[in-house]
Order: sequence, then structure tokens, then C-alpha cells
Amino acid sequence: MDKEAEKAMFVAWTCEICRREFKDDHSRILECEHCEGHFCAKCVKLNDTEYDMISARKDFHWHCVGCEPRVLQSIQIEKDVEKKLAEFMAKVEYKMKTRRKRL
Ligand SMILES: [Zn+2]
Ligand SMILES: [Zn+2]
Repeated sequence: MDKEAEKAMFVAWTCEICRREFKDDHSRILECEHCEGHFCAKCVKLNDTEYDMISARKDFHWHCVGCEPRVLQSIQIEKDVEKKLAEFMAKVEYKMKTRRKRL
């Protein structure tokens, strides 16, 4: 066994909330995408089924309670920009249509 693989085997996650160490791969731990902190499923109030559903999805983005408000805020800003852009495009389209009618 090489050193890298050996190291990987001894990786332990410490839950940021309960400070418990989780050493095996099957522990139900979530990693916050924003602060990269680790949280056990128990502390984030996920049951086994919910956890399995989340961890099975590769496109799922999970954020801890500390980061979630910030992440949600930036998503909201993005949505607002998108909405304004959509409104603007709708106006432009409307103008073009009415102009075409007049011609
Ligand atoms: Zn915990
Ligand atoms: Zn976080």
C-alpha cells in the first residue's frame, strides 16, 4: 500500500457542531460547499433516508446553517438579475412587435 492510500484510510471528520470524530467512510457526514466544514447528519437533523437521497445526488449543493443564508442571498440576487433581464427582454420584444405592426 502506498502512503497516499494509507493516509486516506485514516482520514477523520470532525463534526463542527458536536465535535464528534467520524473515521469510517460510511459515516453520515455532510460537507459544506462554502466553508468546507463537516457536519454529521444528526446535527443537521437529517434522517438516514434524507441523507442517502442527498448524498446520492452528485449535483446536490449542501450548505451549513452558517453559510446557507449567505448562499441563499447570492442566489436571490442572481434571480433578481435574471428577472430584470427577462423583463427587459420582454419589453424589447414588445417594442419590436408593435413597431412591426406599424410598418
Ligand atoms: Zn454532529
Ligand atoms: Zn458552511
